[in-house]
Amino acid sequence: MWRDGPVLRSAFLALAAVLCMGSGPRPAAAGQTVVTDLRVGENAKTTRFVLDLTGRVEFRVFTLADPYRVVIDLPAVAWRLPVRPLPERRGLLAKLRYGLFKPGISRVVLDMNGPAAVDKAFLLVPAGVHAYRLVLDLVPTSRAAFLKRAGRPDARAASLTPVPARPRPGYGTAKTAVPPPPLRKPRRADKPRRAESKPVIVIDPGHGGIDPGTTSVGGIYEKHVTLAVAREMKAQLERTGRFRVVLTRERDIFLRLRDRVAKGRDAGARLFMSIHADAIKNRKVRGLSVYTLSERASDKEAEALAEKENKADLIAGIDLTHETPEVANILIDLAQRESMNESVRFASLLIKELRRKTRVLRRSHRFAGFAVLKAPDVPSVLLEVGFLSNREDEKALRSKKYRAKLAAAVVRAVDGYFARVEEATRK
Ligand SMILES: [Zn+2]
Repeated sequence: MWRDGPVLRSAFLALAAVLCMGSGPRPAAAGQTVVTDLRVGENAKTTRFVLDLTGRVEFRVFTLADPYRVVIDLPAVAWRLPVRPLPERRGLLAKLRYGLFKPGISRVVLDMNGPAAVDKAFLLVPAGVHAYRLVLDLVPTSRAAFLKRAGRPDARAASLTPVPARPRPGYGTAKTAVPPPPLRKPRRADKPRRAESKPVIVIDPGHGGIDPGTTSVGGIYEKHVTLAVAREMKAQLERTGRFRVVLTRERDIFLRLRDRVAKGRDAGARLFMSIHADAIKNRKVRGLSVYTLSERASDKEAEALAEKENKADLIAGIDLTHETPEVANILIDLAQRESMNESVRFASLLIKELRRKTRVLRRSHRFAGFAVLKAPDVPSVLLEVGFLSNREDEKALRSKKYRAKLAAAVVRAVDGYFARVEEATRK
């Protein structure tokens, strides 16, 4: 079929489009992978295409000329996309269609608005609230270069057989004709985090031991306040029966920042919350604020992380064993961006809930480069519970009743956050 030349091929595609593309959602067979969303984004010259999937899939990517198309073949998957128009006219993408191509093979066809090259194609394993993601980065190329590439995959397409459901190592990218050199296997696989039935929330009481943090107007230490607040949050979150909570420290002990981050990852955190209390010269200032990592700091962090030898460990949860170092860097960047978006989503829920019951700062959501927020694959926020330099705030934080109110707001925010996650996976 694929050797029949462009005209017949186009005709066939058009037919396939008519037959398969408008068929609407169908119930998924047991164990069948479901595509839950389909996203397109642009960044400088790159157009990124992402499929959200409930399971691991094999895939192949190739290009077709006249018109310019990028084709992704998957095993037969079920489609349960959110009810909204498909992305179109974004970056290099003109429009797209998808559906069953032939028994055992589902296909996505991206119609491009010009010659495009597949820069990267890879599968991300679940991290944070995200399930599997198939990511395609497309960049502009010349017509000559496009035609040179487009000619080759035809032979591959002609011999296309249903893609086996079980993945083979090294398979899966458009550019892995020569398998990339294997990276060291991550020592901490993502097994514990997926085996956990209740979402794990890691709460990190700031400071401790030889590091007391700031001192309040009345002489109490930040390290004691943060631990008291964290304990109350743990108690209330676990009382719901819906979460497991791990504290980075249970007592008055010093922890390095990187140990805090590592504890979060080791526990398989789906959410990481660091607790601190402010102090400034102006004693009138009071209120809570929530910090997430800034884009700028994230980029630098991603860069630094990528250079580290043990990066596979650092981003446990992302399987880099089949990826080239270059792809690995992109993965770190992507994971961090995605967990950053999740962090921001949680931060705004948290502020909304806190605002009901407590006083929050006017600029309640801030972005900063806190080291403790830099686990690239765990959505993380830092909560400043108030100003110890302010008498009212100090008094409030010393009272168990106020801490309980604070914790109740956190429970509602966490509930709201995971409700959305579950909703997304149920669809
Ligand atoms: Zn602090």
